[in-house]
Amino acid sequence: MNDTRFDLAVVGAGIVGVSCALWAQMRGLRVLLVDENPPGTGVSFGNAGTIANYACVPVNSPGIIRSLPSLLFSKESPLGFDWLYALRNLPWMMAFLRNCSADKVRHTTDQLGGLLSYTDSGLDPLITEADAEDLIVSNDCLYVYATKAGFDAAATGIEGRRRNGVKFDLLDGDAIRELEPALKLLFHKGLLYRGARHVSNPQALVERFHSRFVANGGTWVQTKVTATSPEDDGVTVELADDTKLFAHHAVIAAGAHSKSITGSGVSDLPLDTERGHNIVFKNHAHLLSRPVGWGDAGFYATPMDTGLRLAGTVEIAGLQKPKSPERIAFLVRRAHQMFGDIGAPDEEWLGFRPTMPDALPVIGRSHRSDKILFAFGHQHIGMTLAGITGRIIADLAQDRMPNFDISAFDPKRFTGRF
Ligand SMILES: Cc1cc2nc3c(=O)[nH]c(=O)nc-3n(C[C@H](O)[C@H](O)[C@H](O)COP(=O)(O)OP(=O)(O)OC[C@H]3O[C@@H](n4cnc5c(N)ncnc54)[C@H](O)[C@@H]3O)c2cc1C
Repeated sequence: MNDTRFDLAVVGAGIVGVSCALWAQMRGLRVLLVDENPPGTGVSFGNAGTIANYACVPVNSPGIIRSLPSLLFSKESPLGFDWLYALRNLPWMMAFLRNCSADKVRHTTDQLGGLLSYTDSGLDPLITEADAEDLIVSNDCLYVYATKAGFDAAATGIEGRRRNGVKFDLLDGDAIRELEPALKLLFHKGLLYRGARHVSNPQALVERFHSRFVANGGTWVQTKVTATSPEDDGVTVELADDTKLFAHHAVIAAGAHSKSITGSGVSDLPLDTERGHNIVFKNHAHLLSRPVGWGDAGFYATPMDTGLRLAGTVEIAGLQKPKSPERIAFLVRRAHQMFGDIGAPDEEWLGFRPTMPDALPVIGRSHRSDKILFAFGHQHIGMTLAGITGRIIADLAQDRMPNFDISAFDPKRFTGRF
């Protein structure tokens, strides 16, 4: 590496980090991108691929408290728990539950709705710059409910989407089957999000952004970042081999692992993970023409270049435990209910969604230093929000204010108490 001084150092080459790096580069900044792993091999690898500009409703809901016993103890629940982990992280759990009140959920929904309205203006310039149009499929997105009870329970969320201008058609079981004839289960109701797009290979999208960043002259280093130390005029970025680099700004975009970088202030914030799993049936992508989210089961089935991927569910169990056989078995059972006997999956995967207890991402300046920026906590919609996050970070790195209010995502909302 010839340069050791940069305008912006980006820590993390998931979809959020590469989007920050490419946006900043497109604005003319000299950018360093560092990750200990190859690009797009974190949680950005295995997601459901939806560019879910309609997904403003958080997992938090008043209903979750009422249905907690069945959610926690049923094998058929989309939510799984490691009790010991949950007890050790009681402050986060309590903060999550406090954010389940009707007022808080309305706040989160409306703030996410506002940010999601910038999805296309954040992502499309990157897709064009990286020549990645071939990875984007425009064929709407279907969200279905198997039971009347499941659909009724979603009423407040559906209203929240409508309030935020999300456009959808309401479908009955026959209309759903007409759209996706391979579905064996007759669903009760569905919502068709018109105009929604999906990515046919999420990792390939990260790689495409990364390759263009490097081809345009960006500096890429594959190693672990251990610390960021604020200076008067910038930030020293310390690498695992003790190399020290300097940048006028550094952005922490290391997803659920962002606390591993000392000195930045992330460890003061309530960042935790919602673990998600996927299974892939390599030869069955032809069964669907668009992503189908099964609302009351908490996952999407998405046709991808690599096969039919069922991705989702939530498990609160931290970063250390391996894949959960129960979560995988849940997805396999649901796959067989949806499509009949399509055999055993060819691949199984676990990923760590970065999640704050209020379900809002953290995008802004660290409480420790104006020179350290944060871009993590994008929970279930990080691929969707990566582009607009990158645009905001490029603004902040240029000491410009974004052209809309980002105060709801400010790290300082947690200072003192969460
Ligand atoms: C099952 C599932 C389905 C999902 N479906 C969707 C969907 O359909 N649509 C959607 O928009 N979102 C979806 N998501 C969410 C989305 O995948 C995430 O929000 C997003 O990928 C987060 O990206 P990231 O860049 O923050 O994190 P990551 O992709 O995890 O990237 C973080 C990077 O930081 C690196 N790193 C960590 N520590 C260090 C360090 N100390 N030094 C250097 N590098 C470091 C890691 O190696 C990693 O590459 C889904 C998630 C799951 C689990």
